[in-house]
Amino acid sequence: MLKIVLASRNAHKIREIKEILSAAAGHELEILSLDDIGVTGDIEENGNSFEENAKIKASLPASMGYIGIADDSGLSVDALGGEPGIYSARYAGEPCNDRNNNDKLLRNMDGVTNRTAHFVSCVAAVRPDGKALVCRGECPGTILYTPQGSGGFGYDPLFWYEPLQKTFAELTPEEKNSISHRARALEQFCKEFIAFWEDAQ
Ligand code: IMP
Repeated sequence: MLKIVLASRNAHKIREIKEILSAAAGHELEILSLDDIGVTGDIEENGNSFEENAKIKASLPASMGYIGIADDSGLSVDALGGEPGIYSARYAGEPCNDRNNNDKLLRNMDGVTNRTAHFVSCVAAVRPDGKALVCRGECPGTILYTPQGSGGFGYDPLFWYEPLQKTFAELTPEEKNSISHRARALEQFCKEFIAFWEDAQ
């Protein structure tokens, strides 16, 4: 049985990662949470890239003898020089929530005609011996002028996905999990993870 600790407190991300990983790994995977291993509070993300932050988060369970897994993700808008990027979760500052972040994004995009953007997800696994595996996935889209749809989380209602003619917030969980940045990162991750894990046994 593969046992991993998912180092995240974002319930939406946890659900998506569990759905995608469980579908890929079948019954062989036991996914523990930070609470399960007695970690309270948040992990400080002070890296300069998605890759670094994913590794920082996954390193905490690894320092306790577990294989840690984490995703660091965000939205990168071309006309804003890649913002909000690694600051996506706390873009609008306190109080830190999706509504304020989306409002700030729309204000900053006021009058901007180039609305191209992409979501990024970096999924990292870190072993107790410190070795890390990091996989990156991206998904292109455009930023709408008003939110549309009620599913998903974060910037989903503003993120138009051209191939399906819907925002991410209008997709079913299955649709989102088959094309999202997180799905693309995890697809590569699943291919490499077994060898990474076996190497540590
Ligand atoms: P993290 O927890 O530091 O990785 O921050 C992730 C943030 O990026 C979230 O709080 C959202 O604002 C944004 N984000 C990441 N993935 C998604 C997604 O799938 N849909 C919408 N927003 C996302």
